[in-house]
Amino acid sequence: MTTSLDLSRAPAPQLRSLAGLSLPALKAEMEAMGVPAKKAGMRAKQLRGWAHHFGVTDFDAMTNVAKEMRAELAERYSLARPEIAEHKISVDGTQKWLTRFGPNVEGESVYIPDVGKSGALCVSSQVGCTLNCTFCHTGTQKLVRNLTAQEIVAQVLIARDELAEWPSSNEDRKLTNIVFMGMGEPLYNLDNVAEAIDTISDGDGIAIGRRRITVSTAGVAPKIPELGARTGAMLAISLHAVRDDLRDEIVPINKKYDLKTLFEAIRAYPDLGNSKRVTFEYVMLAGVNDSLAEARDLVKLLRGVPAKINLIPFNPWPGAPYACSDWETIEAFAEVLNRAGYASPIRTPRGRDIFAACGQLRSESVKKSAAELRREALAAE
Ligand code: SAH
Repeated sequence: MTTSLDLSRAPAPQLRSLAGLSLPALKAEMEAMGVPAKKAGMRAKQLRGWAHHFGVTDFDAMTNVAKEMRAELAERYSLARPEIAEHKISVDGTQKWLTRFGPNVEGESVYIPDVGKSGALCVSSQVGCTLNCTFCHTGTQKLVRNLTAQEIVAQVLIARDELAEWPSSNEDRKLTNIVFMGMGEPLYNLDNVAEAIDTISDGDGIAIGRRRITVSTAGVAPKIPELGARTGAMLAISLHAVRDDLRDEIVPINKKYDLKTLFEAIRAYPDLGNSKRVTFEYVMLAGVNDSLAEARDLVKLLRGVPAKINLIPFNPWPGAPYACSDWETIEAFAEVLNRAGYASPIRTPRGRDIFAACGQLRSESVKKSAAELRREALAAE
C-alpha cells in the first residue's frame, strides 16, 4: 500500500505561539531555535517583556531585537492568542469568552468588573471536570483535558487585549485580580496552574501579584499545603456543607477527603493570618444547606482559621435539581456569621443573563475516544 500526501488539501501550517509561555519555556524554545545557551536567557527575557508587558502580537514591534532575529522568530513562531469562539457581554458589564484551545477543546473565562481591587478575571484550569458537584453545571460535563500553563495565561492575555490594558501598568487597571474559579479543579492540574501563576505574577510581565491571585478548590486536601508553598496564592475552599453526610452528597470529593482531613490541610496552608485569610464559598441551596443551625455549625467549624465567607446565591442552569434560598433566609444566615465576627458578603450574581455566573460555565466539548478520532481521520481522507 502506498500513501501520498495531498498538499492542496492540507491546512495552512499553524505556527506555534510564544505568547503565554513561562520564562523557562521561552528559554527552552530559544535554545531549540539554535540561540546559544548563554544568550537564550536574555532573549527569553526580551520576549517575555514584549509579549507580557507590552502585549505585542507582532515580532516586528520588538525594537531591541535585531531585524534578522525578528525575521527568524516570525518564520518559526507567532504571538497569536487561541481563537475566541464566542464573546458575550452582560447587561451588568460582565464579559465571557469561550476560547477554542484546540479542535473540540473549548473553555470559558469571565471578567467581572468591581470585584477584587477593581475587576477580576475568572479563569478555567481544565475543560470539563471530574468532580460532579451536584449543583454545578460544569460538573455535568466530563473532563476533556487539563489546560496547559500557556493556555491558562492566554485567557489573561485575551482579557487584557479586550480591556486595552497594555502595557501592564500598576495604576487604574480594570483587571487587578485573577481567580481560578472557572471550569475544572485547579488542584488536579497543579503543575500547570503553578507555572501559569509564575507567569501571571511576573513583575516584568503581566504583573498581577500573587496576593491578588486566588485558587479555589473543592477540597483536594493533600495538594492544599503544596499549592501555598509553590504559588503563594490566596486559597479559597468550596465548602457548601458543614456535615460529612451532606457534603458527601453535594461535593462528592468529600467521600475521599472528609471535613476533618480537609481542615487539617487548610490549617497547614502557609502564612495564614489576618492579612492572608482563607475564603470559604458557600452556595445557598433552598432547604438543603441553609438553616440557621448550619450557620452556627459553620462558625464552629471555622474556629481558629483566619477566614472570610462568601455566600453565593445558587445560580440556576437548565435541569438543575436545586432552587436558590430566598433572600430572608440568606440574610438570616449571613447575620449569624456577622455576629460571630465574620465578614460574609452575599455575592450578587453577575452575568446570569449570559450564563457567566458561578457554576454556570459549561462548553459543548467532549473528549473523544481513540476509536472516534480514528474514524474521523478516516472519514476526512
Ligand atoms: N473546582 C474548583 C473551582 C471551581 S470554582 C472549586 O470547586 O472550588 C466555582 C465556584 O462556583 C465553586 O465555589 C462552586 O462550588 C461554585 N458553584 C458551582 N455551581 C454553582 C451554582 N450553580 N451557583 C453558585 N455557585 C456555584
